[in-house]
Amino acid sequence: MHEHAAQSVNKASLNSRPHPREVDRGGSQRVVKAGDGDLQVAIVGGGPAGLALALLLRQAGIDCEVFDARAAGAVSLDRRVLALSHGSRQILERLGAWQAIAATPIGAIHISQQGSLGRTLLRAEECGVPALGYVVEAGALGIALAQAASAAGVPVRHGVLATSAQCGADHALLRCATSQGNEEIPARLVAWAEGAISGEDGIVRRDYGQQAIVATLQMRDPGEGIAYERFAASGPLALLPLRDHSALVWTVPDAEAAGLLALDERDFLARLGSVFSGRFTFTALGERSAFPLGLSYRNHPVGDRTVWLGNASQTLHPVAGQGFNLALRDASQLSRLLRDYPADCGNAEALGRYAAARRLDRQGAIGFTDGLIRLFGVRGSMAGHARGAGLLALDLLPAARRFIAQRMIFGARRW
Ligand SMILES: Cc1cc2nc3c(=O)[nH]c(=O)nc-3n(C[C@H](O)[C@H](O)[C@H](O)COP(=O)(O)OP(=O)(O)OC[C@H]3O[C@@H](n4cnc5c(N)ncnc54)[C@H](O)[C@@H]3O)c2cc1C
Repeated sequence: MHEHAAQSVNKASLNSRPHPREVDRGGSQRVVKAGDGDLQVAIVGGGPAGLALALLLRQAGIDCEVFDARAAGAVSLDRRVLALSHGSRQILERLGAWQAIAATPIGAIHISQQGSLGRTLLRAEECGVPALGYVVEAGALGIALAQAASAAGVPVRHGVLATSAQCGADHALLRCATSQGNEEIPARLVAWAEGAISGEDGIVRRDYGQQAIVATLQMRDPGEGIAYERFAASGPLALLPLRDHSALVWTVPDAEAAGLLALDERDFLARLGSVFSGRFTFTALGERSAFPLGLSYRNHPVGDRTVWLGNASQTLHPVAGQGFNLALRDASQLSRLLRDYPADCGNAEALGRYAAARRLDRQGAIGFTDGLIRLFGVRGSMAGHARGAGLLALDLLPAARRFIAQRMIFGARRW
């Protein structure tokens, strides 16, 4: 549990309003520290969201430090495969983390429903972008961001477990446990990017009773750069192009997950083939992992001298590939806004402006993702026919297709 209560912090400097001062941390970018030398932003979590925020703050000239509980390099162990939007590519390029990722462009997305005629095809050229998205391995993304952070001179400390933060009028005090003992780190703002949402107050949770089975595989004739999104009776399923193979994200009910994981390769691929009604032949399967799925989000992504980012702010179902894309847009806007507050990045006005600026996009991503799950999660043939008709209609209406694609590519700002 994080202790975010607004209590006064026992620091001599609390009552004087400090002036910012510039310090050189070794990189070419000059960064602004608080007047008393404290950190401006302490970032909890060195996953993709925390590292991206650190790089964006660094580019904005704002002093920050990342604290991660795990050992250096652990970020490479993430087995998720992510579809990133064109907008995310632009941000990662600016951060110098794109080139190392070896992303696979998505030229088209084929959307269909098991047991129904309806289908639609979204094409990149219709939307005027080089690709509808890009497929990357989360582990490779984490390494690229960590290397970019190191090159930019962003301090990242590993083996530091943040346990709570005490927030005062002028400072927050982040409490951490390390192998050397406990530490207290004063900062103007604590950005929690710890990858999960703890606590109950102000938090909405919905358990979909589903898990995502993730694996790489080989299939015959996948078509170049085509992603397949299929709404099956058991849950949505995505096949994403990943270099010379494909990445599977298969959503199944909790009760079916263990059985699928236990199947041998041949039986697993046969089951997968049946979901696609025999349309594809799958030939080889990599290691499988399962992730429990649900929706949880904080009503307010900010608190006293506190901001939550990435999965610590909202954890979404992967069906629409929104989680990390939204995290990047959040981090980008936060870093832009905090430039206006060089003396005190954690003051209430800065955080209030941030929350207001992100409301539409954040609610849009949460609602869009949850809506897809509810729409395609309803069993029954009438519902199935209605959805099939909806997909057929979408196929006949280029403007509606572009609307959906823009949502996936850029988020709510292009609605
Ligand atoms: C199956 C699946 C598919 C997905 N597909 C997509 C997709 O296609 N597109 C997309 O945009 N998103 C997708 N997502 C979502 C995406 O994976 C997440 O949004 C993103 O990885 C979250 O990154 P993060 O940095 O917030 O969290 P994490 O990667 O979990 O990182 C959290 C970090 O915080 C550290 N930490 C935790 N607690 C503490 C503590 N107390 N003190 C210090 N450090 C701590 C951990 O060590 C870790 O390094 C998918 C998710 C799943 C499950």
